[in-house]
Amino acid sequence: CGIVGYIGAKQAQDVLINGLSRLEYRGYDSAGIATLENDIIRIEKKKGRLINLEDALEKAPLSGQVGIGHTRWATHGVPSDANAHPHSSVNQEIAVVHNGIIENYMALKNELKDRDHVFVSDTDTEVVAHLLNELYTGDIVKTIQMAMQQLKGSYALGVLCANEPDKIVAVRKDSPLIVGLGDGENFIASDIPAILNYTREVYLLDNGEIAVLTADTIQVMNSDGEIIEKEIFAVDWDP
Ligand code: GLU
Repeated sequence: CGIVGYIGAKQAQDVLINGLSRLEYRGYDSAGIATLENDIIRIEKKKGRLINLEDALEKAPLSGQVGIGHTRWATHGVPSDANAHPHSSVNQEIAVVHNGIIENYMALKNELKDRDHVFVSDTDTEVVAHLLNELYTGDIVKTIQMAMQQLKGSYALGVLCANEPDKIVAVRKDSPLIVGLGDGENFIASDIPAILNYTREVYLLDNGEIAVLTADTIQVMNSDGEIIEKEIFAVDWDP
């Protein structure tokens, strides 16, 4: 239902929670974040209001200066801690937040199960994490491009990869996603209000576009993998 992502010098957890709180008006049934530090992905996710996630993070904070967050409006699988996003492959090499619906998730899930993937949730989203994990050959952007050939339905995705800890990759098809431009920090979000505390300069991603963010750079590719120049959209309103 809502996505936010951060890479920069701040503690990602703080930016992600702030961003998710700005998306509360959309409604949701669970919330979660993943951060990446010392090449390790850590995830905390909780059913219910954001306060449940905040309470858990107060007891056991997730450090790291890169991360992704999600508020969920369940379409596949009941609202629960296990079904909340982010979802990851079992080895925690890749973490994914997703808005939308993977229409062919059942077929993909059965194929992945046949190849010994063990699933821990009932969501359509978890297949994306397993698929990326299976296709991964050392380049997360290429891996996402390959996965897109197999994924049917609507998706905005934010992806972390433990092997490539200095980037966030984002992609969208029929679900909204924007990129926020900062100074030594960059953002992704499903919706402008999520990042208005931090920046007013955004790229509005078009269908099929992939954005690769580091703290200092943003590269956007079209669905053919060609690098494109995006125009900066300046937000001149307040939420
Ligand atoms: N289809 C996914 C799920 O049920 C994502 C829902 C959403 O957009 O929040 O987990």
